[in-house]
Amino acid sequence: MGLPLSVFGLMFAPMSDRPKAATPGTIGWLIDKHMCLTVYCNDLACQHRAEPDLQKLADRLGREHSYLLPKLGPKLKCSACGGKKIVIQVTPNGTMGYRG
Ligand SMILES: [Zn+2]
Repeated sequence: MGLPLSVFGLMFAPMSDRPKAATPGTIGWLIDKHMCLTVYCNDLACQHRAEPDLQKLADRLGREHSYLLPKLGPKLKCSACGGKKIVIQVTPNGTMGYRG
């Protein structure tokens, strides 16, 4: 039993009002891929580390917002020292590859 043709029609239908596959490089993509975002303060005297809630970031900035430093960095600041020098690192969620 083959797939009905209408299935293929759905694939090409505009999906403006429903969740679509996330674009790589965006916050939505991180969520879909179960990635984890770790943000470091680049101030040597501080070195605060945080893992922002991606869902909250997506609510605030939109799922299509880039998570890359030039785009996301200016939106973040260190909650410990207020510094704007931020380092962003992406890690697979739940994979403890190394110990800090
Ligand atoms: Zn700091």
